[in-house]
Amino acid sequence: MTSTTLPICIAGHWRAGRGERYATCYPATGEPVAWLNAANLEDLEEAIQCAHQAFLHSGWAQRKPHERAAVLYRIAEGIRAQAEELAQLQRQDNGKPILETRALVASAAATFQFFAAACETLEETITPSRGDFMTMSVYEPMGVVAAITPWNSPIASEAQKVAPALAAGNAVVLKPAEITPLLALELARICDAAGLPKGLISVVPGKGSILGDALTSHPLIKRVSFTGGTRTGKHIAHIAADKMMPVSLELGGKSPTIVLDDADLDHAVAGVLYGIFSSSGEACIAGSRLFVARALYQPFMQRLVAAASQLRVGDPADERTQMGPLISAAHRESVERYVALGLAEGGRLLLGGQRLEGAAYGQGYYYPPTILEGLGNQQRVCREEIFGPVLVAMPFDDEATLLAEANDSLYALAAGIWSRDYKRAWALGRRLQAGTVWINTYKQFSISTPFGGWRDSGLGREKGRLGILQYMEQKSLYWGMNPQPLAWAGINMEAAS
Ligand code: NAD
Repeated sequence: MTSTTLPICIAGHWRAGRGERYATCYPATGEPVAWLNAANLEDLEEAIQCAHQAFLHSGWAQRKPHERAAVLYRIAEGIRAQAEELAQLQRQDNGKPILETRALVASAAATFQFFAAACETLEETITPSRGDFMTMSVYEPMGVVAAITPWNSPIASEAQKVAPALAAGNAVVLKPAEITPLLALELARICDAAGLPKGLISVVPGKGSILGDALTSHPLIKRVSFTGGTRTGKHIAHIAADKMMPVSLELGGKSPTIVLDDADLDHAVAGVLYGIFSSSGEACIAGSRLFVARALYQPFMQRLVAAASQLRVGDPADERTQMGPLISAAHRESVERYVALGLAEGGRLLLGGQRLEGAAYGQGYYYPPTILEGLGNQQRVCREEIFGPVLVAMPFDDEATLLAEANDSLYALAAGIWSRDYKRAWALGRRLQAGTVWINTYKQFSISTPFGGWRDSGLGREKGRLGILQYMEQKSLYWGMNPQPLAWAGINMEAAS
């Protein structure tokens, strides 16, 4: 790594930001990965004004859908051409294991490909006529869209916003998390190389507390697509309400995973482990509340704890690693506070609970898979998002109580069910309140399937073929077909001629 300042992409130019200089650090070592200057408020204003001009004058919005799609296909290819380099960079930027960052990069490419296809196949409709006119429902781009992303899955989160926004004909100002800006910048380079007109994408790294309100409240920003914490999301929702601006908010979660008494235990153990401990639990959809049928509870927990104790925590560059470090020292301290709180509330540790230090872990922010039991759904560790590798296990006696407890959360992002009985799983799945319910699987994603949360987990949906419409305004067109003037005016054409 060099101490050279990394340029950022503002208004079609690659140059240093005018905000404070800072380093992004590798969570496995605490060492700087790159130095850059954040964007300041002037940079942000320049990016928004230029995006507006590019929206008005670059011709992007007027290009035929298949022409815009061609650029998006090239962006997908650009990502694939650099896949390994991007995956390694993302590993350094946020410390995820290399196998995971490779998957995120592949998913970003697939997202551009998918929205290219959605763009060129989007149909506008002729609606049934109810008079002497033909009626159509069409879609228009909005203008400049703000895309705001968190640190936990950079290039995939960014692609999920930028791809549909560009496909729809908009310009984008992308604000990545301050601590993980590198993949957003690379994505902008790939967009440039693919022939996206200049100014249609700017990247403004920096603190949300400095740039956030100026970005979301700016009159030229016509839509905000946000992924991050619930508190920030609600703040943005207030700003959006004042502007009457559409927003989508992908927020936090506290998702239940449910093991029924007829579950296939091998599948359930593997799925519960993956659901909470992959990404070191730094996932909005982490299955952090585990409900197990009481009849199975002891044998299931024994198997789960034994399997969790075998998970390989360590160097994210090692292809065998399953869990890397947490994102920062401060975040690890927050996870530790929650575990201490759980213990103070009467919880018992079945596994983990002590930070990992020593030669094998260097200066990295490692924390092991941690399992607590002896707690109830009302306790804070079951109500608040920990965003780390901490699972709280609870037995349940009957499905009615289970359902009430699983649904008793401010969050409602995801849920999982493990059962061999598909009718039972169907009935339970339909009554769980969550944006996504996985049955006999967990944390699987498809760009072709909508994603989003209920309640404090968010508003609006991303992904899915119609995800592109989130970035467009609907418009109705009426074409008069009557050879006569409108009757109300009383004009007699024969008398008039
Ligand atoms: P965060 O809310 O602190 O930050 C997210 C982004 O918002 C960052 O880019 C940040 O700089 C920016 N921001 C901060 N204040 C802002 C403001 N006032 N206006 C506009 N932008 C502002 O969240 P985080 O700590 O980066 O990410 C973790 C959170 O993200 C967790 O709660 C997690 O559940 C959530 N998340 C949700 C999803 C989902 O799809 N539902 C996916 C990933 C992460």
